[in-house]
Amino acid sequence: MMNEVSMMKAWIVPEHGGVDVLKLEQKPVTEPGPGQVRIKTTMGALNHLDLWVRRGVPGHKFPLPMIPMSDVAGTVDAVGPGVGDPVVGMRVVLLPGVGCKSCGHCTIGDDPICRDYGIRGESFDGGAAEYVVAPADEAIPISDNVDWSTAAAFGLTFLTAYRMVFTRAKLRKDEWVLVHAAGSGVSSAAIQFAQIEQARVITTAGSPEKVDAAKKMGINHVINYKEADFAKEVRSITGKHGVDVIIDHVGKDTFDGNMKCLAKGGRLVTCGNTSGPMVEMNMAMVFFKGLSILGSTMGSRSEFLKAMDLVERGLAKPVIDKVFPFEELPKAHEYLESRKVFGKVLISME
Ligand SMILES: [Zn+2]
Repeated sequence: MMNEVSMMKAWIVPEHGGVDVLKLEQKPVTEPGPGQVRIKTTMGALNHLDLWVRRGVPGHKFPLPMIPMSDVAGTVDAVGPGVGDPVVGMRVVLLPGVGCKSCGHCTIGDDPICRDYGIRGESFDGGAAEYVVAPADEAIPISDNVDWSTAAAFGLTFLTAYRMVFTRAKLRKDEWVLVHAAGSGVSSAAIQFAQIEQARVITTAGSPEKVDAAKKMGINHVINYKEADFAKEVRSITGKHGVDVIIDHVGKDTFDGNMKCLAKGGRLVTCGNTSGPMVEMNMAMVFFKGLSILGSTMGSRSEFLKAMDLVERGLAKPVIDKVFPFEELPKAHEYLESRKVFGKVLISME
């Protein structure tokens, strides 16, 4: 069964640059091929990745021109031959990252370390369009009790945070965990996962407004990192014990303090380096304290399903900052770039 549609609006990144490179174009709507479904999109969400895709990253080649945006939710409106599930009319979320589905890593469910792992809206066309055609197994049905904003907002950040907190750090009840930059999507997800695990959470934020917003998430220990040395504050909060786990995507600016305030046996999990990638490390501190430095990026299909389960059960919920209409994607980019954001910036196609 196919609905009759011929043209759609889609945002394109034709070349790297400022927000004015983003172009709204008319593109043909394609029919889903064998094993594929077509989704009429309802809501999408921006990630910092969208800014990198638009601006470009030295030494990295993106497949431009490309439709950006990793996170999108909508309704299946047509299915190709051989597709049993999902069916037309189902509400779905698109998996933000996928492996090759056939190598050793993918076969055992460790897709993020697949050599060919790709991210929607970075490695191939994303969801900033009225329709998206994708393999049926990448369109994950989501419970009707999850609203569209939540469905679109949790994807990439909850997936990333889930793998960091549970799979990589193996955070346990009563452990101390420091989550940097509470306002970011990954961090607010990591904070909620740590709370579910009943760990003891400390977070940092860069303005009085963000400190207040973090406290509203039920965190007692919020450090304004612009006013205080976070490593010293962590020492005083934890009674010199330090933190057992650190969730970081800041990189250079927090690395030294992280090494100082990790407890013996501590684990630092990093998924990014917004302040820069190059650091100087005191190896003595690493072996003497028995520290682990763990890299993490995105997550597997099964980690996505586990994160989604927590969302469906109402145990975790993405923090939403602001919703922009589809036509205002460049304004949404500017808003995310302003760094005044606490939570997710959404794009509504309705
Ligand atoms: Zn693979």
